[in-house]
Amino acid sequence: MSVLPKSVENVIAQFSKLPGVGPKSAARMTYHYLRSPNGDATNLANALIDMDENICFCTKCYNVSDKEVCSLCDSLLRKNSKICVVEEPLDVVAFENSAVYEGFYFVLGGVISPAEGIGAEDLRFKQLKERCNELLKELESKRLEVIVATNPNLEGEATASYIHDMFEKYIKEGTMVVSRLAMGLPTGADLEYADRLTLKRALEGRRSI
Ligand SMILES: [Zn+2]
Repeated sequence: MSVLPKSVENVIAQFSKLPGVGPKSAARMTYHYLRSPNGDATNLANALIDMDENICFCTKCYNVSDKEVCSLCDSLLRKNSKICVVEEPLDVVAFENSAVYEGFYFVLGGVISPAEGIGAEDLRFKQLKERCNELLKELESKRLEVIVATNPNLEGEATASYIHDMFEKYIKEGTMVVSRLAMGLPTGADLEYADRLTLKRALEGRRSI
């Protein structure tokens, strides 16, 4: 029999699901909220409910949004001749914070990883193709650059190759260029933690694949 009340155990179990959080840290976080006198636990619960009820995925780029089409996809200031493919929404935040990129984004939802059982069918390749076709129709130049900004590791490279192969016909036609971020990013680095200068160099040094 557990010494902890069920409600406390439930919270520990929920915190344990967070990335990088083990049972000990989860227990520490739970006790923090137990001791917190000023309604912090209620505020946390309400913030989570609010996010859960009001946040959706943008129907164009699949970034998190509170509208059907996010403010980035809706902006007239973005260049529609470039689309940057990233793994997760936090990568968009990294690019936006660094203010080095003016095109559109597309959030793939991960990378191809046979080791983790993630195949092409689990990611948004079909939607990426649809979005690129949509942009190509809008573009006067009829030339779209797809910048693959997956992380510089084995899975990220495999995913970049998959995107290249998927658009091979367009590349041959000359309507599309698929490029990859330069390796200013160290292998194994996580894009979301890259600083502005590193991202700027990686973007400027990108090469066609
Ligand atoms: Zn969007």
